Amino acid sequence: MNAENVSLSLETPTLHDQHGRWPQAASVADFRRNLAAVHERIAAACRRSGREPASVRLLPVSKTVDEARIRLAYAAGCRLLGENKVQEAHGKWEAMADLSGLHWSVIGHLQTNKAKQVARFATEFQALDSLRLAEELDRRLQAEGRALDVFVQVNTSGEASKYGLPPEDVAPFLRALPAFPALRVRGLMTLAVLSAEASRVRQCFALLRGLRDRLRQEAPDGIGLDELSMGMSGDYEIAIEEGATVVRVGQAIFGARSTPDAYYWPAAQA
Ligand SMILES: *Cc1c(COP(=O)(O)O)cnc(C)c1O
Repeated sequence: MNAENVSLSLETPTLHDQHGRWPQAASVADFRRNLAAVHERIAAACRRSGREPASVRLLPVSKTVDEARIRLAYAAGCRLLGENKVQEAHGKWEAMADLSGLHWSVIGHLQTNKAKQVARFATEFQALDSLRLAEELDRRLQAEGRALDVFVQVNTSGEASKYGLPPEDVAPFLRALPAFPALRVRGLMTLAVLSAEASRVRQCFALLRGLRDRLRQEAPDGIGLDELSMGMSGDYEIAIEEGATVVRVGQAIFGARSTPDAYYWPAAQA
């Protein structure tokens, strides 16, 4: 075996072959077990890359999961949940207002006309990708007397179907954001290509990290670029090896979704 084969065989694989096979969590014990397993994999990925496990935040993604199961996840300790669609997130926020300390992160593309809803209830928004949206969010947040943690979404896969700014547009975009004081910019977010080929997935994450490292030096005052939100059930270990500080994990915690990914990302491949 030559050196190239050795390094390939040691490469962290994607878990995309698990797609559709994650078991459904149906009890508090199931959630505790799934959360512990994900935390253990996070810790192992951190060890491999010389990082502190505490430097990675796990954001459980509860899209399509009904209220009853979300209450079980809450009982197992989840306090911040990610949702792709604002309508669904808003409904869950209203339905579970009795759960103290439960917060919502909106991680999916947002139309400007729905900024008002996000401004009302979300504590975090990870898919900022236009100045019109930034302006509208800022205006609505100021009216509510609130602030919002935001991530700028970047299209690192070059797929036309993916949301997010092209990498070369991110620097001028960041320079415009200080005009919106209710937005607390925390970092960058991306979705890798949905491929079983680990090296292609890794490239997307490495691109986001490189971009962040370069832009951090010239970031305007008040624009934080400490966070890198990247990695989901199928690829979060690779993302951590490439510097993720937030991993957005749904199916590995809640169980497989029946809704196809194409519902969230037009033309996504399984
Ligand atoms: C659904 C979703 C995730 C989580 O995907 P899983 O495969 O369930 O881990 C991550 N990020 C975004 C933007 C999502 O919509």
